Amino acid sequence: MEKDKRPGFYITTPIYYVNARPHIGHAYTTIVCDAIARRKRMLGFDTFLLTGTDEHGQKIERSAAAAGKTPRQFADEVSGLFRGLFERMNISNNDFIRTTEPRHERGVQQLFRVLRENGYIYKGTYTGQYCVYDEMYIDTAEAGAKCPECGRPTETVSEENYYFKLSAFADKLLKYFEDHPEFIRPETRRNEVIAFVRGGLRDLSISRSTFKWGIPVPDDPKHIVYVWLDALSNYCTAVGYGSDDPGERKKFETYWPADVHMIGKEIIRFHCVYWPAFLMAAGLPLPKAVIAHGWLLFEENKMSKSRGNIVRAETVIDVLGNDALRYFLLREIVFGQDGSFSFDAVVQRYNSDLANDLGNLASRTLTMISRYFNGSVPYPSPTVAHKDADDAIKRQAQSVIADFAQLFDDYQFSRAIECAWSLIGTVNKYLVEQEPWVVAEKEGEENKSRLATILYTAAEALRIVTALAHPVLPESTAKIWHQLGLGEISRLDLQTLQWGQLPLGGKLGKVEPVFPRADKSAIERMQTMEQERNAPAPPTTTPASSATPSTATPSPAAPSPVTPGAAGAVPATVAVATPAPAGDGKISIDDFLKVELRVGQVKFAEKVKGADKLLRLEVDIGTEVRQLVAGIALAYEPEALIGRKVVIVANLKPRKLRGLESNGMIVAASVGEDGKPVLAGFLEDVPVGAKLK
Ligand SMILES: [Zn+2]
Repeated sequence: MEKDKRPGFYITTPIYYVNARPHIGHAYTTIVCDAIARRKRMLGFDTFLLTGTDEHGQKIERSAAAAGKTPRQFADEVSGLFRGLFERMNISNNDFIRTTEPRHERGVQQLFRVLRENGYIYKGTYTGQYCVYDEMYIDTAEAGAKCPECGRPTETVSEENYYFKLSAFADKLLKYFEDHPEFIRPETRRNEVIAFVRGGLRDLSISRSTFKWGIPVPDDPKHIVYVWLDALSNYCTAVGYGSDDPGERKKFETYWPADVHMIGKEIIRFHCVYWPAFLMAAGLPLPKAVIAHGWLLFEENKMSKSRGNIVRAETVIDVLGNDALRYFLLREIVFGQDGSFSFDAVVQRYNSDLANDLGNLASRTLTMISRYFNGSVPYPSPTVAHKDADDAIKRQAQSVIADFAQLFDDYQFSRAIECAWSLIGTVNKYLVEQEPWVVAEKEGEENKSRLATILYTAAEALRIVTALAHPVLPESTAKIWHQLGLGEISRLDLQTLQWGQLPLGGKLGKVEPVFPRADKSAIERMQTMEQERNAPAPPTTTPASSATPSTATPSPAAPSPVTPGAAGAVPATVAVATPAPAGDGKISIDDFLKVELRVGQVKFAEKVKGADKLLRLEVDIGTEVRQLVAGIALAYEPEALIGRKVVIVANLKPRKLRGLESNGMIVAASVGEDGKPVLAGFLEDVPVGAKLK
């Protein structure tokens, strides 16, 4: 067999614990890894994406008993749900490991033996407080003390255990962190881990004898291996560690050490202290990076069973499709930080960025090429019908290719996408300015050449954005690629992507809309689906929850009307030659819904130097803190505004006032002859970030 010469890239999701059904948080981690893996494949890496399920432990034993099942049946069922969801999400994992598989059990026993042979395991007796939920001992003498992680009461446990000499690794770990600053990301997590290790490490109990559902310790089967040692080993066992098979051994050589372990921030200690210590003790190389992402909150709250606000990925996928969910999670959430999820926000992103921006660009460009050039990519004119605006698109496209790569490969997905979308924005504007639909009506060769250049330029920019966005939007970009007449997008070599590769004269595929607009009912449909999924068994008797946070009551002091023009420069909608909006002065509900009004809270306010009417404000709108510049300085003292809740237009294009960028507009009534501003507000208390509609 010819050895694969491509560089390897091995990325893992955490393996998901089967004590709960998959929810959107699991989907998030998996989508992030999938997007990274897809890009690496397009860059020519021999990429291996691993996910799977963690299935042992007392928690599973108890949950299974409560459900009247064997632990095995229970684990099979829930693991099947994860696997089914990832298939449905079109996740491109190369393997799905289960910790109950023989290949894994064999590998864990092998690792245990090696640790024992290397002198890092000894037997001791331990009596202490144990949290069953978190599968860990709690450092306290007090019987029944509450677990600091989950708050549940701990149980007193006394057992003869095997111990791992974790204490021997504190200095080695600290040295490793220092020599490999890229090992733990982001920086805040790295500092947290360093502080923990500096606080001193105690030896770790790595076996249990009080329950049965786990992997037996080799040569002492009344003990089972500690669930975290068991679980973490999956990253090695899945690529062949502990196997006798030469092919599997080869695989381990090829892929280990992993390039990236992607995890949620709550399991950082296990991955950055215990796991590297186990590997050091076994003489195995350490993974190159452990990257912790933040939590996904639902409308600003932590998702939890007790709140009943756990959202499932299927709900969004059922209504808007896989790509809508992927796009939202990668674009809206600043990777590494906590991010907020809401159905409103998903629909809003989908409509503005996908249906409107990308969908619009694809649809009008390809439709015009079909109409005016019989579906063949036209030849751009290098001279006669050429304008600076064409070159500007080309230059921007080239820098977007470079910037996107840098940002994406630095895990700044949101900014990378923003960067690609800036090109979409420019090209949509270019089309409005160049008016190809007007040029098409004119006679003569020069106009024909001009039309060809405009449409070629737009189509080539579309091709580049589509290629870059493929890891984020695999399904819809594959469709656009076909419509561009370019075949299978996954075969594209991203390394060589540059301006000018769209084959001239190439025949387009069948042009169809890729992102149908979502109407308001999409939000309601998702809310209803979630309520049904979260509802207790007899569904109809539960009282309708009266406090849907999104229906904030408008204030009695009605906000001053926001003109539709304020949402202004939204590119023309789908049709090729869109006429101006209807002339009766009325707007449709869809037009109104384009305006995103949100409750914000003023965090900071100051006068703008040299402008007596202007205040610079920092306003928390739930998802972020925005800088706004508002002409209210004559009516309000800055100090009086701090802490006040205000209404802002959140999706206004940024503009500059006195050199300061203003991101949004504050809503106020205009009173009296001099138009004194009076800020809109609420009589009831409303949460920051609530949407007005
Ligand atoms: Zn706990």
